[in-house]
Amino acid sequence: MSAVRVRFAPSPTGYLHIGGARTALYNYLYAKSVGGTFVLRIEDTDLERSNAEYEKLQIEDLKWLGIFHDEGPDKPNPKYAPYRQSERAEIYQKYADQLIERDLAYYDFCTEEELEAMKAKAEAEGRDPIYEGKWKEAAHKAEAMARVKAGEKTAIRFRAPKKAYTLKDKVKGEVTYPANMVGDFVIVRSNGLPVYNYCCVIDDMLMEITHVIRGEDHLNNTVRQLMIYEALGAKLPEFAHVSLLIGSDRQKLSKRHGATSVNLYRNEHYLPEAMCNYLTLLGWSHPSETDIFAKEEIVSVFGLERFSAHAAMYDLEKLKWVNGQHLKKMGNEEILKLLATIPEAADFNKQDTPWKEGAINLLKQYADFITDIPKKAHEMIFSEHIEMKNELMEILGWETTPKILDFIGSEVAKVSTPFVNESQLNGWMETLKKDMGVKGKPLFQGVRAALTGHDHGPDLKLLIPLTPVSVIKKRISLLGNTKQEKDG
Ligand code: GLU
Repeated sequence: MSAVRVRFAPSPTGYLHIGGARTALYNYLYAKSVGGTFVLRIEDTDLERSNAEYEKLQIEDLKWLGIFHDEGPDKPNPKYAPYRQSERAEIYQKYADQLIERDLAYYDFCTEEELEAMKAKAEAEGRDPIYEGKWKEAAHKAEAMARVKAGEKTAIRFRAPKKAYTLKDKVKGEVTYPANMVGDFVIVRSNGLPVYNYCCVIDDMLMEITHVIRGEDHLNNTVRQLMIYEALGAKLPEFAHVSLLIGSDRQKLSKRHGATSVNLYRNEHYLPEAMCNYLTLLGWSHPSETDIFAKEEIVSVFGLERFSAHAAMYDLEKLKWVNGQHLKKMGNEEILKLLATIPEAADFNKQDTPWKEGAINLLKQYADFITDIPKKAHEMIFSEHIEMKNELMEILGWETTPKILDFIGSEVAKVSTPFVNESQLNGWMETLKKDMGVKGKPLFQGVRAALTGHDHGPDLKLLIPLTPVSVIKKRISLLGNTKQEKDG
């Protein structure tokens, strides 16, 4: 294994979001591409919003996508464990104590009202609020220490250096944060809970994370994190802030643009391979500009240099198309296995395997989703319903069609097997052509109409051997009745 260590650090406050899945995927792909380690860290310091159930569900969704972590709460490496921030309180406290000791942080006893007043003053002066409380001054340190020693709980604030910072980001390029952009900020709240920007750095440092690949929405946080790295004397990881996901209206991706949580796609039977393929393309491009690929194929060409700095548009129609492409590339065995898990395919699954394979070969080309296969089987193979469209009526009106209906009707009546085979079908065509003089379009269209009740559709040689004789009989009788009604 290379020394590369990346992490995906979700907060278990909801389902796995599409954007989160993409971040996880990029980290996973990068780790795999360089033989590194992919760490899953649970950022659950927001106790009110975090929920163990969401942690479980997010991990399930990651596994469904085929994004497997090498280390995490369920796969701990003793050197780096624990992997849940809620279990690392002592570590955060230890480093906070050190920062206080070194005067890089201080206890802050300001009340809510005092902080509000600072904010209001800043607003009135048209600037960002900056901490101006007295506790930042060395003169009050002894008093603060004494109050804490006496058991008083209070927040710990980090002393933000008053200088500019520059980040060399792998995606965004050079990002400069001007001096005084942020004031002294809280790293541990008065209830003892540390904040994200602080824990994230402690953890990335201790877990020896070498590359931080995450969403651009964290770019503003990064300046605070750079300050903490500096204070701790820790080596900076490489940063890659991947572009934002937007909807077709160029607004940040939200529920308005369609389902945003992975589990909804899973419920709708999207293929995980297709999801990964599409998500990879949202902000990253394949060196040979290919659109359709398997996750494993991408590993050998994946790298941080092919990220786009521009926002990526999430397009559900494109995702559906990608899904269809993956379905068409899937082997029958795999499709059969998947269909066996799908309630909508219950009737389809009852058929024997050669029939099912034939049907898959035929119907796959009409399907974007696995559920389209049983749906199309119903529409194109099992349905006895005939829609009297103008095109069909026209064929029924040709003078050769009644002859075809009569002839095929009497032939089908003689069939004692559940299905017609291809040579029987060929035989009927031959007889109609040679003995009854029906040729060309009237022959082909007439036979199709008689057998399927449609004016167009797939190759009859593939379709008819899959269609139960009972269904064909019913169609012919319905078409015969229509003709009689018309005549009468
Ligand atoms: N818990 C943060 C989030 O879910 C992680 C941010 C990061 O990767 O640093 O957005």
